[in-house]
Amino acid sequence: MEADIPSLFLLLVITGLCLCNGYISEETLQTAQVFLEKYGYLEETTKQHSGKQLASAVREFQWLSHLSVSGELDTSTVQQMIQPRCGVKDIESLKLVKSHHHGRQRKKRYISKSKKWYKQHLTYQIVNWPWYLSQHQVRQAVKAAFQLWSNVSSLTFSEALRDPADIRLAFFDGDHNDGAGNAFDGPGGALAHAFFPRRGEAHFDSAEHWSLNGKGRNLFVVLAHEIGHTLGLPHSSFKNALMSPYYKKLNKDYVLNFDDVLAIQNLYGAPPSGNLVQLPGKQFAFFQDWSPESHEDSGMKPSYCHSIFDAITWDLKKTLYIFKGRHFWMVSLGGKISPPQSLQKRWKKLPSYIEAAVVSGLDGKFYFFKGGRCWRYKDSILEEGFPQKCSMNGLPRRPDTALYFQPLGHLVIFKGSKYYVVNEESLTVEPYYPRSLHDWKGVPANSHSVLTHPDGAIYFFKGHQYWIFDQKKLKVTTSGKWAEDLSWIGCKNDVT
Ligand SMILES: [Zn+2]
Ligand SMILES: [Zn+2]
Repeated sequence: MEADIPSLFLLLVITGLCLCNGYISEETLQTAQVFLEKYGYLEETTKQHSGKQLASAVREFQWLSHLSVSGELDTSTVQQMIQPRCGVKDIESLKLVKSHHHGRQRKKRYISKSKKWYKQHLTYQIVNWPWYLSQHQVRQAVKAAFQLWSNVSSLTFSEALRDPADIRLAFFDGDHNDGAGNAFDGPGGALAHAFFPRRGEAHFDSAEHWSLNGKGRNLFVVLAHEIGHTLGLPHSSFKNALMSPYYKKLNKDYVLNFDDVLAIQNLYGAPPSGNLVQLPGKQFAFFQDWSPESHEDSGMKPSYCHSIFDAITWDLKKTLYIFKGRHFWMVSLGGKISPPQSLQKRWKKLPSYIEAAVVSGLDGKFYFFKGGRCWRYKDSILEEGFPQKCSMNGLPRRPDTALYFQPLGHLVIFKGSKYYVVNEESLTVEPYYPRSLHDWKGVPANSHSVLTHPDGAIYFFKGHQYWIFDQKKLKVTTSGKWAEDLSWIGCKNDVT
């Protein structure tokens, strides 16, 4: 092939494919030709392409890539060719252009009738995944990626833990036995590729640094795109479509563009309910806190709704804070829920998975407890002398939960079958404490969270249950399931 380069160069010059925008090396020409063949703009052949063919291929590429259509291998065209992208050919978008429009170009996609599944429920299998990503997060991301498509079409998906599955997802390095043209090329370039129905395979380049938390190559976006191919979708010429060939970062807005929705509905129709559920990209920034069950019936619910959160408290402005793992959510009195926020960004030096959190009713300071230590913040600022070894002052290690108790004007810490009244200033246990939990009639031992509602009632949480402690009657008066019964916690009403 290398011997062809000088003649290729000559041919380009003779036939007017302008290379005059500065020096274009033989290597660049070679790269361009390989690119145009790989992505279907030029026929793969050992024979020499004519200059006319090349110029025409470059024009088609420029048109599909939203560059100015000159047929010249100018800098922006060459730059576009080296952008990270999907390894699937673009060609099929062009077939229609040629056959239906007498050479006139029109933005429309070509969909072959035979390239679809003839059933509505498909199974998938995750064959392997990068060692540095947790299996749990990868499975969540894959589930979410399939769900993007099932939310807007009649398709449904489930994971098959064993063979056979309709769609298999796998990571490979370099050549992996599906043709030299499909060999992966190291970081950048082709990131992944997939096959149209009913082959059911999507492959991802192991050499990329994949990520599910915003650093590196966003695996979720690429998963969603490649799954689109396995369902029969070719590349879209719409720049903002998920099915456009070039790699995009996770958009805060809807992951699927209208063009993607139309394309999948063209093949499989709308969901039986007639309701489209479009999920915004910002929900997929952190997979450790993403809970798929919540998306299926009711749009978006925060993940704390489906499991036990670490701690919960109200600040003095009556914003509810819910803590879980590395994140926290804020719920306004009106029920508006924030996306998951990073704990360490808001409160520097605070560890993840805190055990108890409470806002003082006196001055609005945040107290956090974990292990034997405690942290005190004024707004986001860690106070001097913190974190402290509070267990040295007699506070229990690994407390269950903490409360600001208005009648005493003190913090109360619960641990097992005891409770401790704590002086805020000195963070020492008040005289005659700890005492037995029997004083809190009806409150279970080892509750995981507690807070005082702005209406004065004290809510204890343990597992999926809650108990309301009435301060006047000094006993538990009500109990139930918090996610279902308490609308102010943000799990009851659908939030989209
Ligand atoms: Zn693609
Ligand atoms: Zn492959």
